[in-house]
Amino acid sequence: MEALILLLIGAIALPILALAARGDGQKRGKTAAAPRRARRSRCPNCGSPVIDHGSYWECGWCGDHGN
Ligand SMILES: [Zn+2]
Repeated sequence: MEALILLLIGAIALPILALAARGDGQKRGKTAAAPRRARRSRCPNCGSPVIDHGSYWECGWCGDHGN
C-alpha cells in the first residue's frame, strides 16, 4: 500500500518539478516570432523553409542543400 502512495506522489510531483525547472528558462523568451537557434531555416535560393537533417540541410522545394 505504501508503495502505491509513493508511486502516486512521484507521479504528481515529478511533472510539477519538471515544469518548475523549465519555467525558469523559458521566461526570457518574450518575442514569439523569434525562431529556435537553427542553422538554416530558410533556403538561400528560393526562401522556402528547409529540412534540417542534422549534418546538412535540404530544401524540399528547389532541392538546394548544404551544411
Ligand atoms: Zn530552395
